[in-house]
Amino acid sequence: MAVERTLSIIKPDAVEQNNIGNILAMIQGAGLKILGMRMLHLTRAQAQGFYEVHKERPFFGELVEFMTRGPVVVSALEGEDAVARYRALMGATNPDDADEGTIRKAYGTDVGENACHGSDSIENGQIEVAYFFPEYLLK
Ligand code: ADP
Ligand code: MG
Repeated sequence: MAVERTLSIIKPDAVEQNNIGNILAMIQGAGLKILGMRMLHLTRAQAQGFYEVHKERPFFGELVEFMTRGPVVVSALEGEDAVARYRALMGATNPDDADEGTIRKAYGTDVGENACHGSDSIENGQIEVAYFFPEYLLK
């Protein structure tokens, strides 16, 4: 297994519900290392750019509204097999389908407001970490 990097976003719903610490504890409890972290309020342009791949999907407008309605916490995670391990820790996109012990099962509300984001491939992990941490974490 290779050491990988993946991007986590604690979404506005989870920040509003005071679950930042709970989610970070799950991330650290799973043995993923937090390399860098920022709390920020995404602009519309940042959210649209980040979710560019979904721009033709029917929920795109709703997703951008949601992701910009309040602050988020973005973090760059690192570890062996980190991309797949963080996806497993997050659980299914729809919290109703997520397994017990996952972040989305514990803290997600519905298929849109599902508490967290995680990169879906090694390549996207690199691209997404660079999107929020362009000035470091490049080595
Ligand atoms: P994931 O976050 O699990 O990788 P997707 O990449 O398919 O899921 O979707 C990106 C995000 O868009 C989801 O996490 C969720 O916030 C939102 N989303 C996905 N499907 C829907 C939907 N049917 N209705 C509303 N929002 C959705
Ligand atoms: Mg995705």
